[in-house]
Amino acid sequence: MGLRTAEEYKNGLRDGREVWIEGEKVEDITSHPKMKVGVETSAIDYEMAENPKFRDLAVAIHPETGEPISRHYYISQNAEDLIKRHDLIVEATRQGDGIIPFTKDVAGDSLNAVLITCRSMGNEVYIDRINRFYNHVRNNDLSVACAMTDVKGDRSLHPSSPDQEHPDYYVHVVDKNDKGIIVRGAKGHITCAAYCDEILVLPCRAMREEDTDYALSFAIPVNTKGLRQIVRPYRYHQGPLEFPNDRPIRSQTESWIIFHDVFVPWERVFLCGEWQYAGAMAYNFSYSHRHTASCYRLAMTEVQLGLAIAIAEYNGIDKISHIREKITDMIIYIEMLNSLSRASCLEPIIREGVALPNYIISNLAKYHFAKNYHEFVKNVEDLCGGIFITTPTYKDYQVPELKEDIDKYLSGIKGTSALDRLKIIQGLKTTINADDEVLALHAEGSLQAERMTIYGEYQKRLQELKRNAEKIVGID
Ligand SMILES: Cc1cc2nc3c(=O)[nH]c(=O)nc-3n(C[C@H](O)[C@H](O)[C@H](O)COP(=O)(O)OP(=O)(O)OC[C@H]3O[C@@H](n4cnc5c(N)ncnc54)[C@H](O)[C@@H]3O)c2cc1C
Repeated sequence: MGLRTAEEYKNGLRDGREVWIEGEKVEDITSHPKMKVGVETSAIDYEMAENPKFRDLAVAIHPETGEPISRHYYISQNAEDLIKRHDLIVEATRQGDGIIPFTKDVAGDSLNAVLITCRSMGNEVYIDRINRFYNHVRNNDLSVACAMTDVKGDRSLHPSSPDQEHPDYYVHVVDKNDKGIIVRGAKGHITCAAYCDEILVLPCRAMREEDTDYALSFAIPVNTKGLRQIVRPYRYHQGPLEFPNDRPIRSQTESWIIFHDVFVPWERVFLCGEWQYAGAMAYNFSYSHRHTASCYRLAMTEVQLGLAIAIAEYNGIDKISHIREKITDMIIYIEMLNSLSRASCLEPIIREGVALPNYIISNLAKYHFAKNYHEFVKNVEDLCGGIFITTPTYKDYQVPELKEDIDKYLSGIKGTSALDRLKIIQGLKTTINADDEVLALHAEGSLQAERMTIYGEYQKRLQELKRNAEKIVGID
């Protein structure tokens, strides 16, 4: 079939999937006022492949067939391939005014994780199945959500622990027959799941032998019977209090996915009981996905820095030394992220024929941006002043006598208008909020998850350093 247009992607989503938002069952995800923003944002990846300006970046050549395919489904072989992928994600997020299209980015990360794990197991049946599924996604230019995070219940307990309130906090097998498996459980916070073609399920942690039924990876179409999604509310429209803006609203949303005894045919099962490989699959995903995160965060914070500089200029404080210090801190944040993100591509790790961003460096990039994001935001809020939260609304501005007051008293330096100043603040408020702060902290894994990876991956180097230090002090 080959590359799809954005329209073809949208048409594919009208398939009877069960999606709920704010207590309402969604009939057509592509036209529903509360859902279509996510669809349109994800469609950017398809639009870029059609746009001559971005085609070289968004499209790669299938190494075997010579057909054009999405770059997200080209398996990176070296640093150059990884850098192109880095550039693609950054540019796509810029096209989304700071919001990543996501559906194909996460698809590549999760497909590669399953492929690498199956290859490292040496299980020919699984290798054949994931190859077929990968080709299905690639050849039909599909979008895929990755459902890894289980709802977990008591986090201190293992999935199968009898002390858990019930056995379904982690997705698991409840029955098997000659055609496939039946699965039950729930996954949480799954980005884009409501407007993808397929959901690829991965285990979210290392398992023990008693967790065999929970060591599970499979893929199913989003309209599979028994699969229910509850989508969180999110900014999908311009409210009456907001100053009008003609640019399309960009946003992504997350789903709670409940698997009500869902049937999965064997050809779509990539891990079923091999508990020793559950942790490896989760890690293989995180290595690549944390790099994806550093790319979109880079483009996202560029928008925030741009708005921060604009408000500093409008307020006449841009040349004041402590403001310059704060802007310099923001530049350092962004350029540190850019450097780490690119460096992780330039020192790739080749696993089972797939080039992955360097594990330690990509985790450093994610850790840097998550740990320091609140400081970045603090600087923006500081230089904005209290107006960040006390702005009059567009409704006030529509009353002539109030408009007169607002225009007179809420402008900044000579030649700037109050309206433009309020629009900049509004732009900052839509991008800097609690949702985004939590996204930075938890999406792609908590701070602790990154620290664990960095520490774990550093063990060999620690031993080398220790041996060298021992030599220095004369210990044989
Ligand atoms: C906006 C957003 C988008 C996301 N998109 C996706 C997605 O597309 N796909 C997907 O699979 N996931 C997604 N996630 C989930 C994300 O990976 C998780 O939020 C993250 O792994 C943390 O898990 P949690 O939210 O369940 O928090 P918790 O597990 O409750 O973590 C809270 C705190 O408890 C600590 N903690 C938890 N368990 C333990 C333990 N056993 N030992 C020690 N400390 C522990 C954590 O380190 C953290 O500090 C998304 C999350 C967000 C916020």
